[in-house]
Amino acid sequence: MKILILGGTREAREIADIASGERGVEIVSSLAGRVREPVLPVGAVRMGGFGGVQGLREWISGNAIDLVVDATHPFAGGMTANAAQAAAQLGLPVLHVRRPGWHEQPGDRWIRVPNLTVAAETVAGLGDRVFLTVGRQGVAAFAASGQFFLIRAIDSPEGAVPPRHEVLLARGPFAVEEEIALLTAHAIEVLVTKDSGGALTEAKLQAARTLGLPVVMIDRPPLPGGAEQVETVAQAWDWVLARR
Ligand code: NAP
Repeated sequence: MKILILGGTREAREIADIASGERGVEIVSSLAGRVREPVLPVGAVRMGGFGGVQGLREWISGNAIDLVVDATHPFAGGMTANAAQAAAQLGLPVLHVRRPGWHEQPGDRWIRVPNLTVAAETVAGLGDRVFLTVGRQGVAAFAASGQFFLIRAIDSPEGAVPPRHEVLLARGPFAVEEEIALLTAHAIEVLVTKDSGGALTEAKLQAARTLGLPVVMIDRPPLPGGAEQVETVAQAWDWVLARR
């Protein structure tokens, strides 16, 4: 059985780890190739876009793939939609692995927004000093804002940036005490983040709660209609084994 794992997440690497120890299972992990120094999964890896739904369909057929496990980031909506379409056209099973989103807790001051554009409009009224953690591809949505932005991303922002900003290149995990120190040192008044979920980058939310700061939380794009979805690596692996 040959599985295409659409990756770029910790979950995708964990699925590759498990699969590599299983006899009779062959895997290929796929990465978009955007991050300069990606953390690579074990086993075979291919890099770069497939060329839309048609390119993906051709790649899947040409490589005799039996199953597609879409373990991309919850905000990689384009890749997810393409995977769902290509698999449906080929009649192949596809599973979407989506870690749970974050949930508001007592003491939190969250404002949920549907996308980056509304996040930029919303944050305008919430303070002059913003901690922006929306990934380097999301920064351009804030380019017309006059506030100060502390931008944290793995690689430098892509495209236009707000006139007043500082870039902090870093990759999680982050600790709560470090996050509190960072927000305090930069006199941050409001945090903007995507609802990525997971423990790796959750500490900023605890820091905002401790400091009483508002959080503009960008909701995930919806999964394609009728998609089969699980939340954990263990559930994903059960799904794979059930199809042997
Ligand atoms: P996206 O907007 O959904 O995808 C745009 C295009 O990038 C896709 O149509 C595809 O190009 C290519 N692509 C995306 N993921 C790919 C993969 N795993 N393998 C091969 N091609 C891929 O994706 P994105 O939000 O830019 O994310 C890119 C990658 O970064 C994904 O692997 C994702 O898991 C990871 N990531 C994203 C975020 C985030 O916040 N968006 C955060 C952490 C990690 P073609 O149409 O040419 O096939």
